[in-house]
Amino acid sequence: MMVRSNRVLLVSLSAALIAGCAAGDSAAKDSAASTATPVAASPVPDSLIDGWAQHSRERPAPVVQDPGPFVASPPPADAVVLFDGTSLDAWMMADSSAAKWRVADGAFEVVPGTGTLKTRAGYGDAQLHIEWMSPNPPVGEDQDRGNSGVFFGGGRYEVQILDSYNSATYPDGQAAALYGQYPPKVNVSRKPGEWQSYDITYTRPRFADGKLVSPATLTVLHNGVLVHDKQALVGPTANRARVPYEVHEDRLPIQLQDHSHPVRFRNVWVKDLEKQP
Ligand code: MG
Repeated sequence: MMVRSNRVLLVSLSAALIAGCAAGDSAAKDSAASTATPVAASPVPDSLIDGWAQHSRERPAPVVQDPGPFVASPPPADAVVLFDGTSLDAWMMADSSAAKWRVADGAFEVVPGTGTLKTRAGYGDAQLHIEWMSPNPPVGEDQDRGNSGVFFGGGRYEVQILDSYNSATYPDGQAAALYGQYPPKVNVSRKPGEWQSYDITYTRPRFADGKLVSPATLTVLHNGVLVHDKQALVGPTANRARVPYEVHEDRLPIQLQDHSHPVRFRNVWVKDLEKQP
């Protein structure tokens, strides 16, 4: 039963990836599906989450809260600066060519059609600070409005970026959702054209002897507000699919998604939590 189920799901994943970028998964296609080795002991991938089917629009939307004013978060002394306002030297495209996203005014911006941006270095357990801005004036609606994403594990685990200010979508796909799995606890989105921040702590999954020992977890502060507290993922995030865990390398690039929208980023730094004294 499980074998059959996993096979169907992998077929479904392939179909979703081939279909392209309906929502939050374009970065995943760059690497996640290429070396799929399903892990038999992973959580049941097609289960409801908190009683809700994936992408349910009946699921209650997180309460909207005002996060208060923006607070600057300069990199601490031991952080690796991934973007200092001038250079994308720490990044490259998915095919390892030079970064093609646009740098201007102390920020960088998705150039639609260029594809996923990824760090040159790989990271396991890590704390990431990243600031982002939705296009202003806003264009489109629902998932087609300021969509991007921050991925850990080489494209497998997405914290969604979306314009969720006075703009509805399915809760597990809104800003700060763990895409397709967990909505944020509250919606603290700022207006398009205002800087927002994510402070994300990623714990990579652990594998041993081809089995999952512990799942990936994500803790996320959106604009300084806790929206996920060491939330365990049921598997890689995906659009219209529940994907089982697959064994992967410990240290993999952090990726940003080209979802055809000119989302901007600045002040990106990471603390490598597996290299702490
Ligand atoms: Mg996305």
